[in-house]
Amino acid sequence: MADSGANLDRAREALRTVFGFEHFRGVQDEVVGRVLASQPTLAIMPTGAGKSLTYQLPATILPGTCVVISPLIALMHDQLRAARTNGIRAATLTSADADWRETQDAFRAGELDLLYVAPERASQPAFRDLLASAPLCLFAIDEAHCVSEWGHDFRPDYRQLRPLLDSFPDVPRLALTATADHRTRADVLDQLGIPAAGLIVAGFDRPNIRYDIRHRQGVAGQLASLMRSVPGPGIVYAPTRAKVETLAAQLAQATGRTVLPYHAGLEPQVRAGNQAAFVASEDTVIVATIAFGMGIDKPDVRFVAHAGIPKSIEAYYQETGRAGRDGDPAQAVMFWAAGDFSQARQRLVEVDEGRQQGERARLDALAALVETPGCRRAILLRHFGEDPPERCGNCDNCLEAPDVVDATEIARKLLSAVYRTGQSFGFGHVQKVLTGAEDERVRQRGHDRLSVFGIVGEDEARLLQPVSRALQARGSLVATEHGGLMLAGDARAILKGEQDLVIVRPQKPERGGRRGRNQ
Ligand code: ADP
Ligand code: ZN
Repeated sequence: MADSGANLDRAREALRTVFGFEHFRGVQDEVVGRVLASQPTLAIMPTGAGKSLTYQLPATILPGTCVVISPLIALMHDQLRAARTNGIRAATLTSADADWRETQDAFRAGELDLLYVAPERASQPAFRDLLASAPLCLFAIDEAHCVSEWGHDFRPDYRQLRPLLDSFPDVPRLALTATADHRTRADVLDQLGIPAAGLIVAGFDRPNIRYDIRHRQGVAGQLASLMRSVPGPGIVYAPTRAKVETLAAQLAQATGRTVLPYHAGLEPQVRAGNQAAFVASEDTVIVATIAFGMGIDKPDVRFVAHAGIPKSIEAYYQETGRAGRDGDPAQAVMFWAAGDFSQARQRLVEVDEGRQQGERARLDALAALVETPGCRRAILLRHFGEDPPERCGNCDNCLEAPDVVDATEIARKLLSAVYRTGQSFGFGHVQKVLTGAEDERVRQRGHDRLSVFGIVGEDEARLLQPVSRALQARGSLVATEHGGLMLAGDARAILKGEQDLVIVRPQKPERGGRRGRNQ
């Protein structure tokens, strides 16, 4: 189309003059091209790929306002600030805004390029009337995976968007998300009325990020040594507020570097101050809950560390994706323990039934990433629907191929011992039974008379702990609230010899039962 060709020239011009960039990145030009040609589009672009530009830029050159649906007020205000810095006329209509009247007047008068709103507005008739009274150029639906129950962040309000969008048939729609597996993707297209031809998927590979996934063993020490080898800014994700506080203090003490805490329980000024200090610094480390990171634009983060497992592969990708946005080498290091998976699987019980299957699949996918003796990047990219090479050369397993061992036989012994001791003892006890330890409690329970007593030899004993960990990660063993292990998942298939277990051979002799669970 001649018209959209001319528009593309104007787009390149605006890229330089409004945003100060020389080139489009990745699929940005393709997405912008579709928007300018009024074609409905779902763009799947990883965090940091530059999604906002794909609607902000058209908004600056098309007549009328681009209405942006965004799920978080904090995120909207970050976007608003950034847009205004570029001289874009932008406003928000949220419960946190006092200037509704001015905003509405400017909107109706066609004086806004961007209007950010929350999804709950979508179902309000008054809002539809407001839209009908103003010139519109585009609907941008940010975090579009929220429309799908398959997604990890389902927001019922997003379901109200479709009728709203459909009542403005001449206004094109652009849905954006960083995180969507195949099923979610198809569902988002369906829910938002975008044809399959409108799907644009950016490459997910972040070649400058080195992935490294290790067992947790005294995590403060492990993190301190990471901090000593990587001097630049870093983010450490910790599972709880309390852990954030203690780790921040321990790491500052151990390394002498500036380490700041960040979590929702801090005073707002402190939290904002710590975030600002981190963004401005060249060497600060922030220890945070996952509340940290959304909308933060710091290109030179040199490492992202996880002190426990993330929620899913999507979350892992998004959180680690905050490292190395400038393209320089960066590291993503995860420290995990078997207990992380047991706890996450226990929490599944609280999830409503309809979502349990999806949540379980998410945990399984994460466990596969964590346990693999193969390339981490290959697993990640395959998860996002790509067809990557077998090896990447820039992850722990590619750099140093781990020694693998067929542990099926030991796994069967372990599962069988768990079963025969009544599925109510922790790993330590089961280990004693299997290795035939002289132990009072074992004798009292009569477990020294079981057929599994002492059936694991010295060589095999070394593998018991990693096997237990692998079985817990994949959900074949789950720990109850009292710490007892129970069979679950494919445990029976392993016992019957229908399913193998190959694990990474441990490098050093592992210490026995008590360690490894919740440090
Ligand atoms: P996303 O929303 O996809 O995570 P953002 O829209 O926040 O990503 O953009 C990430 C960073 O990339 C921002 O700093 C943005 O200014 C920058 N950026 C976006 N497009 C370009 C481009 N074409 N060239 C250089 N930098 C860009
Ligand atoms: Zn690799």
